[in-house]
Amino acid sequence: MKYDYLIIGSGLFGATFAHLACNVGKRCLVIEKRSHTGGNVYCDNIADINVHKYGAHIFHTSDEEIWNFVNSIVPFNRYTNCPIAKAPNGRMYNLPFNMNTFYQMWGVMTPEEANAKLSEQRLEAQLRMKREGVSDPRNLEEQALMLIGKDIYEQLIKGYTEKQWGRKCTELPAFIIRRLPVRLTFDNNYFNDNFQGIPIGGYNRLIDGLLEGTDLKLNTDFFSDRTYFESLADKIVFTGKIDEFYNYRFGKLEYRTVRFETEIIDMPNWQGNAVVNYTSIDVPFTRIIEHKHFELFGDRVYSNSKTVISREYSSEWQEGMEPFYPINDNKNEELYLKYKAIAQTEKNVIFGGRLAEYKYYDMAPLIKHAFDIFMKQK
Ligand code: FAD
Ligand code: UDP
Repeated sequence: MKYDYLIIGSGLFGATFAHLACNVGKRCLVIEKRSHTGGNVYCDNIADINVHKYGAHIFHTSDEEIWNFVNSIVPFNRYTNCPIAKAPNGRMYNLPFNMNTFYQMWGVMTPEEANAKLSEQRLEAQLRMKREGVSDPRNLEEQALMLIGKDIYEQLIKGYTEKQWGRKCTELPAFIIRRLPVRLTFDNNYFNDNFQGIPIGGYNRLIDGLLEGTDLKLNTDFFSDRTYFESLADKIVFTGKIDEFYNYRFGKLEYRTVRFETEIIDMPNWQGNAVVNYTSIDVPFTRIIEHKHFELFGDRVYSNSKTVISREYSSEWQEGMEPFYPINDNKNEELYLKYKAIAQTEKNVIFGGRLAEYKYYDMAPLIKHAFDIFMKQK
């Protein structure tokens, strides 16, 4: 049978596209090189807990249409991301930077007191820059000092950022934290979006729902028999690495990756929160995720006597590792543009998703993007 679409990759982009196409009667075949569907949102079930195998995923959006769409596939729970940071001084702080953080850092209790303290710290940074004859922040460190001051920079930003990017804050561009949220309210919700949550029963249910009605082949790499797979359908939706699609003819795109160390612990509640950041440079990992807190709230945490945690280590990507974050520097951007230019000349291949477009997408914008691309097909 000839398919309308051969979709390479069963991540959120491929699965959403397949769902939309099937809904209008198109025949789709999804091939996936891994032994499971879902791409990076896939969860492993360990000790009856959904473990976010490729990194913690929190769905958040203000787009009501996308929120209603995902909830029509599987209802989402009320998880609200409120990370905690363990600082080099041994104390814990709420994130994002808000009145709770300022109280914990300086003992200030009102927005006015917090503002006064922030102004004092910013002034110090301004004077320092003036002494050095600098008008605009030249790097991330100067930007952070201007935005939030020395105390928070040293305790909550410096170590974490240097671990995450593998470079000194003085060598990182200022724009990374130009929009650092500073909240003068007691609000620990990490996101500003109207909607957030985790699919009830886990992300695999979302992916299974999206792939209903689609033919699927796991453990199948498109490049293992490219000519054969290309003959199966009128059109191809490619969600793998764009440089691999073109046999790396211009060179290899680079990524940053994260290594996870996952451990089952024989106690019901280990750190009391889903996300705890470790902001000291002396701790080798950036954060620890305790997965059960994404789905079990209040006393329900104790309904499972075990828990599963993952330590996250940020590192440079090498062949064989998972390519997670595209590197947005000039070298990689220029290389991507070369691939994009030939991709645009393809008549029967659609490139979509984070690997095919060499672009970081959060889940909700990615789904919206799949909708937009699909609409253009009709
Ligand atoms: P992928 O999920 O990578 O899917 C691509 C699929 O294609 C994979 O399954 C792959 O195996 C398959 N494939 C590739 N090449 C081939 C081939 N040759 N043959 C067959 N199959 C192939 N977003 C949020 O909104 N909130 C979050 O909290 C969040 N956290 C994140 C944390 C991390 C560590 C990362 C990396 C991303 C996070 N995201 C988050 C973003 C989210 O993961 C993406 O938006 C989404 O997963 C991208 O889906 P995709 O389909 O484009 O790619
Ligand atoms: N950040 C920080 N301390 C923290 C958390 C975040 O300094 O405890 C900074 C850091 O520079 C990071 C940026 O804020 O690169 C964005 O962090 P977030 O965890 O939101 O980024 P993501 O992992 O989602 O890209």
